[in-house]
Amino acid sequence: MSVLTHKDSCRICDGTKLSKVLSLGPTPLANAFLESQEARAAEMYYPLDAYLCRDCGLLQLLDVVSPEVLFKDYVYVSSTSPAFVAHFRDFAEKAFERFSLNRESLVVDIGSNDGILLTPFKRKGVRVLGVEPDETIARMARRGGIDTITEFWGPDVAQRVAKRYGCADLITATNVFAHIDDIHAVLRGVKTLLKPEGVFVIEVPYLADFLKKNLFDTVYHEHLSYFSLAALQAFFTRTRMTIIDVEQVPTHGGSLRVFAARKGSRHFVHARVGKLMMREEKQRLRDGKTFERYNLRILLNRAKLLSLLSGLKRRGKRIAGYGAPAKGNTLLNFFSVGRELLDYIVDDSPFKQGKHTPGKRIPVVSSEVLKRNPPDYLLILAWNFAEPIMKKNEAFRKKGGRFIIPVPTPRIII
Ligand SMILES: [Zn+2]
Repeated sequence: MSVLTHKDSCRICDGTKLSKVLSLGPTPLANAFLESQEARAAEMYYPLDAYLCRDCGLLQLLDVVSPEVLFKDYVYVSSTSPAFVAHFRDFAEKAFERFSLNRESLVVDIGSNDGILLTPFKRKGVRVLGVEPDETIARMARRGGIDTITEFWGPDVAQRVAKRYGCADLITATNVFAHIDDIHAVLRGVKTLLKPEGVFVIEVPYLADFLKKNLFDTVYHEHLSYFSLAALQAFFTRTRMTIIDVEQVPTHGGSLRVFAARKGSRHFVHARVGKLMMREEKQRLRDGKTFERYNLRILLNRAKLLSLLSGLKRRGKRIAGYGAPAKGNTLLNFFSVGRELLDYIVDDSPFKQGKHTPGKRIPVVSSEVLKRNPPDYLLILAWNFAEPIMKKNEAFRKKGGRFIIPVPTPRIII
């Protein structure tokens, strides 16, 4: 497979009526942090454009960077975030009751990371299996007592798992589905492994929140699809599955948790599904005009943030960033916020400290630097963790430091 492939049909429905509704321009990979500021090798830039399918309503990237390149240096450890730990613990509690799981049941998590979702199921005595492509992270999960195989999920792996462990009562894929190009292959695997009355649960960032909260920065090459419930309905209908329930959850700026079962299963369809479909109709999520207005809001936000930051600089203020997530790099690159505005970026991940952000090449440092050499303002790039970040840095605020949050509109928190 070549490094970059351009698709000309929709990932869900094969439709070819695709309109480019968001163009962020050529952009380096959001997780390709550089070892040094003057990294000798030229950085690779790839198109970063989002297209809307006029048939099923899926918002998607059509320029697909090969996973070998994309995930080469990818290190993301879920359990470092207490909010996510609580999120999955609650999910496990509810799913355990609702689907009457017991010691015989099997829960399989696709893209299981360090076992964050499976750990609470295991504590309840349920049999669990993680499927995780990254060996380093899989090893962490095993050390934590979660049986994990190192594989890219697909129909063949599903068959092997079914043979060895039996079929699954519950299969989950949280924050995975949006990152995979061939979601039909993922589902073929799910259907191979799922019991006749089993349930498949996915969590994906929600298009309605994306538009409402002006979240262009969650667009990066790893993140291929931006789902509405209508698009997911189209997908599951084509694969002879039925969406039986949907919930809106707060992760990643607003996500959908969708429950699907085989067509013709005993599960009844919850009224929430129809209600949300109707709300989406009213929100006109597949209307070109909705995206035109959204684009204007993004450009306005760019002007606002740049004028806010450069105004502070003119008054002699020092500014740093907080958090170096993938979305932070989309924002820095598209808004063109570089070292002339941000002195450094604080991030708690030791994997990123000492490196430089892709594109803008801003140094990433530990919170020690923030204590030793504090700026006047901190731009929170990891805005989905704004509350815990501000709490953790109460001392900075007490000394007169101020926080800036970039979404849904840039503002200083007083
Ligand atoms: Zn489509």
